[in-house]
Amino acid sequence: MVQQNQIWTYIGREVMRYILAIALLMVCIIVEWQAVDRLTIQAYQVRYTSALERFRGEPYIYNNRRTDKYLDTYEMEFQQIIANITEEIRCFPVEKSYIQEINYVDSWYGERTYGGERKHEGTDIMANSNIAGEIPIVSMTDGVVKNLGWLRLGGWRVGIESDSGVYYYYAHLDSYAPNLQIGNPVYAGQLLGFMGDSGYGEEGTTGMFPVHLHLGIYVYDSNGTEISLNPYPILTYFEDSHGILSGNNEKCWKIGLFHRFFMGNPLEFSRKYAIL
Ligand SMILES: [Zn+2]
Repeated sequence: MVQQNQIWTYIGREVMRYILAIALLMVCIIVEWQAVDRLTIQAYQVRYTSALERFRGEPYIYNNRRTDKYLDTYEMEFQQIIANITEEIRCFPVEKSYIQEINYVDSWYGERTYGGERKHEGTDIMANSNIAGEIPIVSMTDGVVKNLGWLRLGGWRVGIESDSGVYYYYAHLDSYAPNLQIGNPVYAGQLLGFMGDSGYGEEGTTGMFPVHLHLGIYVYDSNGTEISLNPYPILTYFEDSHGILSGNNEKCWKIGLFHRFFMGNPLEFSRKYAIL
């Protein structure tokens, strides 16, 4: 005959066992979670570092007027420039929800022939649909509109000068966001216009090449010499292995939404608001 108190002791032990098991499981989950977190962060760091290494290890990719004797001088300045750029770039130049609609490769310094023999000073972000006026282009940084309007090569372009003096060049646009004016401030994530195929001719020329954004990044050394950087490693920094925007881009979107909400920016990422 089992006594009443023996049953209760038994139940008590079982309950304790379950509580212990659940606690153990939770500890395991938390440990795993943190490990995954740590690995993810490490993966980003490795990716980011290797992107930066490409700049540092191959100086010729950023100095289009390279002569070897300048390299030491540039190296010093370049450390600072890279620090500035990685600090100030917050956004991938294509609006987040359109990221599956684009592709790009490293075409840095590829041969170009229109307008004479020259090297490709930038990255081309292609529209998969090849339809102009669909994909919103946003500013990668805070800054000021420095240049706006037609260029024979660049078509409808926007040039943004960041606070640190880096020049971000967005070319071949289809149309502009309505509130852009030379001298006006822009914030990271602000709509600049829509991807297009303008350029390579007189004002208004389109269709000379597939729809894409040409992104150029220019810095200036202490002598005022313009140096073209390869945007490709910077762009890849914003993607994880699934091609989803991440890292600084989250920051970009929080900032963008903050501005849109509190600064009363009425812009929607819609073609109907565009000018041209
Ligand atoms: Zn290009």
